[in-house]
Amino acid sequence: MKTLLPTSTAGSLPKPSWLAKPETLWSPWKLQDEELIEGKQDALRLTLDDQDRAGIDIVSDGEQTRQHFVTTFIEHLSGVDFENRQTVKIRNRYNASVPSVVGTVTREKPVFVEDAKFLRTLTKKPIKWALPGPMTMIDTLYDGHYKSREKLAWDFAKILNQEAKELEAVGVDVIQFDEPAFNVFFDEVNDWGIATLEKAIEGLKCETAVHICYGYGIKANIDWKNTLGQEWRQYEEIFPRLQKSNIDLISLECQNSRVPMDLIELIRGKKVMVGAIDVATNTIETPEKVADILRKALQFVDADKLYPCTNCGMAPLSREVARGKLNALGAGVEIVRKELSV
Ligand SMILES: [Zn+2]
Repeated sequence: MKTLLPTSTAGSLPKPSWLAKPETLWSPWKLQDEELIEGKQDALRLTLDDQDRAGIDIVSDGEQTRQHFVTTFIEHLSGVDFENRQTVKIRNRYNASVPSVVGTVTREKPVFVEDAKFLRTLTKKPIKWALPGPMTMIDTLYDGHYKSREKLAWDFAKILNQEAKELEAVGVDVIQFDEPAFNVFFDEVNDWGIATLEKAIEGLKCETAVHICYGYGIKANIDWKNTLGQEWRQYEEIFPRLQKSNIDLISLECQNSRVPMDLIELIRGKKVMVGAIDVATNTIETPEKVADILRKALQFVDADKLYPCTNCGMAPLSREVARGKLNALGAGVEIVRKELSV
């Protein structure tokens, strides 16, 4: 029988401290060459073990083999110069030093396919693999070549589609595109953002997801959230168009967020990955707090389409806190499963 309320995480999980500096974004690797390859594989085993023990149903690589969810993918492409860095404002929010697009972007070889193939050998559970979405990619770069956000996004969409097809071929069950930029650039999302996302999933037979959050629990994001007022209605701008898209699952930030839950009604018919774990605090949710968010979501999404998840990635947290939160997710979902089965 199909598992009711299958659990997963939005993306990254903390890396072991012998692999990379903990609680840091863009953390440099501590190993090199062959040792780094072996270290990443060991980290994949460990992150899978944490997910298994917490009862996570759809497991992931926890992004153990990448430094950052956007830049690591871009590093593997040609047309981008990592020496030539420029400072840009990411998501209209914070400055970061980013590489420059200097020519047509292409993917000369697979990026994550070997990692996914390895993860496939370690587990029989369904695997979800995250890739950056086209709009979030262009927003994490300086474009000195295309001079058009839309044109660059279409080229990234083609590249993502190549990668996604190969991930599917090695046994990935769900491919997720991370699009935090969808919460910021509403006009572009509706003009071409969702269309480029649909290009990225073209021809895939596996399930596809889009993750739209309010970002990691870093200061720039927390400060931004504090300016958004009592109700966060950003999703309202993009849900009508997303509801009509070909994307199967939509991953949202719900725990401790000010997103009115009834907005989920606007994507009725889609599978909804409801964020039931806040990644911006070290406080570990009680199972009851997790269950409470899921019960609220069930007013607007049918039980067979509810996929409990985390709000976002947990890379910036300590491993102990992240494990506690994974366990709380598993335990909270159990409470609601029991309620639904009576
Ligand atoms: Zn996120």
